[in-house]
Amino acid sequence: MFGIFGGKKEKDVVCGMSVDPKKTSFKTEHQDVAYYFCSAHCKEQFEKEPAKYIGKSG
Ligand SMILES: [Zn+2]
Repeated sequence: MFGIFGGKKEKDVVCGMSVDPKKTSFKTEHQDVAYYFCSAHCKEQFEKEPAKYIGKSG
């Protein structure tokens, strides 16, 4: 997982911002992993092409 934020924050993989999972309402799940975003825009971008941001496309 994302260790660089010390466990309290998650990284918005689209724009690179740190996001507090307890405060954001922009959340999606992909392959049983929860992802958090700073905005609806980032969430939409991720959902269009999740593999692009995860970097694990097969
Ligand atoms: Zn963002």
